[in-house]
Amino acid sequence: KTVPVNIEHHAYKVYLDKGLRFRLGELLKNSLDEQPSSIFIVTDSTVAPLYLEDVLNGLPDDLNVTTVTIDSGEQSKSFKEYEYLLTEALKAGLDRKSVLIALGGGVVGDIAGFVAATYMRGIRFIQMPTTLLAQDSSVGGKVAINHPLGKNMIGAFQQPEAVYYDIEMLATLPEKEWRSGFAEVFKHGLILNEAFYQWLNEHVQQLPIHDQYMNELLARSIAIKAEVVSKDEREQGIRAYLNLGHTLGHAIESVSGYGTLTHGEAVVIGIVFAMKISEKHYQTDLKISDFVDWVESLGYETNIPSNLDRSKLLEAMKKDKKTEAGSIRMVLLKKVGEASVEKIDEKLILSILNEQ
Ligand code: NAD
Ligand code: ZN
Repeated sequence: KTVPVNIEHHAYKVYLDKGLRFRLGELLKNSLDEQPSSIFIVTDSTVAPLYLEDVLNGLPDDLNVTTVTIDSGEQSKSFKEYEYLLTEALKAGLDRKSVLIALGGGVVGDIAGFVAATYMRGIRFIQMPTTLLAQDSSVGGKVAINHPLGKNMIGAFQQPEAVYYDIEMLATLPEKEWRSGFAEVFKHGLILNEAFYQWLNEHVQQLPIHDQYMNELLARSIAIKAEVVSKDEREQGIRAYLNLGHTLGHAIESVSGYGTLTHGEAVVIGIVFAMKISEKHYQTDLKISDFVDWVESLGYETNIPSNLDRSKLLEAMKKDKKTEAGSIRMVLLKKVGEASVEKIDEKLILSILNEQ
């Protein structure tokens, strides 16, 4: 099965199937107009022992392949690691016809994609996501590393040539990472597709998600992401909806220190927060308690950790990339399936922060 991503001047496909990792050579033939002069695979220290060999076995013997493994975890999205990857790429003699393969979760996809965007002003790259979260991050071409002063602050738009999503690789994913990724799945329903949200609500009662639903779940979730980024590649409009829950979510991640909660777990607390602000702002009823019951049954926290200083969270929220001239802009829900971006008064934010 494939999901098309119809970005202007750069259409590509997301391949979704079991066992794709064994078929890289054949897949590259399909996806690339011009065959690669060499291949540069970037992966991490958790994924490499699990899947790298399978991927290498699927490549033809006469292809020049270099593999680089970075430490797993968010701290690898750094300048230091970025420079290291560029050094290895130069040493390997990559040229403009080379193709970079990102084999891993969002961390590998983001940093390897940024290498692809900047090495010799840009070379082609392929995403091979290995986490549930990466159903989101591997599609749409946002690539970045972190600056000590802010997450994802240094980056580019670089669309991949294709995405190969071998869902068999999710079998080894820890439950916490399922929770992180599933948040970005139902977020897609909440902002744009009520029917998808209801379907998830009905079928997903536990994590990891039952195998029988995975194909449909991923195809629908990725199709929503693909539609958003093809209408608005550079985030001038609806792409901003993807940030639902992220204004507070990112603040929680940065104030609590990355790693305490996963990204998706922090985003869910941010979604509940955004729902509360939405109810006040639009004078509407979003049935927040039903949402909270569902996600808590899946193991998510919905309250802001009590040890986090509320005024520090507010300060962190003001540093968000969506901030314009100091005022906080948030993605809100008019109803389930319909999002909008609004400027929100600091006093309201602080009072809900103190409540949650
Ligand atoms: P991650 O890449 O750190 O992966 C999570 C953990 O799972 C890591 O320890 C990793 O080694 C391990 N892992 C990966 N695949 C595995 C597998 N198949 N089996 C067992 N373990 C496996 O994190 P993530 O959640 O995939 O991605 C988070 C990153 O994605 C963040 O840096 C975030 O900023 C970024 N992101 C980017 C976008 C975008 O549009 N570019 C969107 C959302 C998130
Ligand atoms: Zn996210």
